Amino acid sequence: MHDVVILGAGIHGLCSAFELRRRGRDVTVLDRYAVGHDRGGSHGAARIMRSSYHQRRYVELARQAQRTSWPLLSAELGRTLVTDTPGVFFGQPKGLFADFLAATLGAGVPVEQIERHEAQQRFPLLRFEEHDAVMLDHTAGVLAASEAMSGLREWLSDHDVEFRSEVTAQRIEAGRDAVTIETDLEPLRARAVVVATGAWLGELLPEWSQPLTTLRQQVGYVQVEPGEHSTEVGTFPVWCRIGETAEDFVYGLPEFGKPGLKLAHHRTTGAPDDANATPAAIDRDALAELARARLTSPVIDVLSVENCLYAVAPGEELHVVRSELDARIVAVAACSGHGFKFGPVIGARVADLVEAL
Ligand SMILES: Cc1cc2nc3c(=O)[nH]c(=O)nc-3n(C[C@H](O)[C@H](O)[C@H](O)COP(=O)(O)OP(=O)(O)OC[C@H]3O[C@@H](n4cnc5c(N)ncnc54)[C@H](O)[C@@H]3O)c2cc1C
Repeated sequence: MHDVVILGAGIHGLCSAFELRRRGRDVTVLDRYAVGHDRGGSHGAARIMRSSYHQRRYVELARQAQRTSWPLLSAELGRTLVTDTPGVFFGQPKGLFADFLAATLGAGVPVEQIERHEAQQRFPLLRFEEHDAVMLDHTAGVLAASEAMSGLREWLSDHDVEFRSEVTAQRIEAGRDAVTIETDLEPLRARAVVVATGAWLGELLPEWSQPLTTLRQQVGYVQVEPGEHSTEVGTFPVWCRIGETAEDFVYGLPEFGKPGLKLAHHRTTGAPDDANATPAAIDRDALAELARARLTSPVIDVLSVENCLYAVAPGEELHVVRSELDARIVAVAACSGHGFKFGPVIGARVADLVEAL
């Protein structure tokens, strides 16, 4: 009989394991792929940390993550997980971006509105449109995603957490004395189960098969000719150009952990993708075009590309809830394309639910 079994070793599964182990629970983690795989939503060198959001409670949740959760995790792992850099959020002041302005500027966080011409002077490599409103987020930074993932795995191994890679959970059955997980190897029995399988959540918990939409993202790392301007973290910002609707949302990061400026569409709508399908070839020309549209400097090359999965819940909400199957099963649907920064907060919510059993 296992104490807690966690299905999925993405950022949410690992942060849940970290928090439960810190609270003295025995934890076993399963993942269908090998350590370091690139099939889900948590791989890659970097992620955006920001307070700027379209809803006040996410502004506040981000502050909690920045002020408490990530500093604690960095200290425990002995690694620098967040590097400060300016955050620039801009767009026409209507529709979705108007929601960002309203929710963020009045929230009492160190985010200010600056004039477009000042923004263009301070961030000459970004392309601002006429009438763009601009928010400068002083809480922003780059999250060292792959450092966080490898640091968590190392900490968990050092603290006797059992990892089983390339083991696929196929079915979950709630019995009187235990929850049983049928896998492609052997069944496991546990007092509690955490299902943090990202885009695959609906395969194990039917109540999530409809609400969650799997959307594949295409990411590029582009080489530009910056002239005398820096593309380094600390100077070059994390940025989001936010249009009137969710379809028109582009973001980027400074060079961090690999060559080239990261950029991509934040794709939260559209026809669903199959998480199990082999990804289609990435359209490098489209990524180069996107870079030319959003950056003022000449684009020399798309140095590398990356596929990555979003599991988008309605309203891009994040959920940590008990499963309808049984209260001993906790479901984590916390991606929606912005869940990495909330990893440690999500882990604590999961541990609270397990401990309350
Ligand atoms: C391109 C891209 C850019 C992003 N940018 C940002 C950003 O700037 N800031 C931010 O905060 N967030 C960002 N995100 C979102 C964030 O990265 C995700 O929300 C987060 O990584 C999701 O983690 P997860 O643990 O929920 O899912 P995943 O990382 O997908 O982990 C799920 C795991 O479950 C395993 N699994 C699935 N089915 C089974 C099974 N049956 N049995 C066993 N194991 C199973 C999978 O192998 C996988 O490892 C971005 C995401 C992408 C894709």
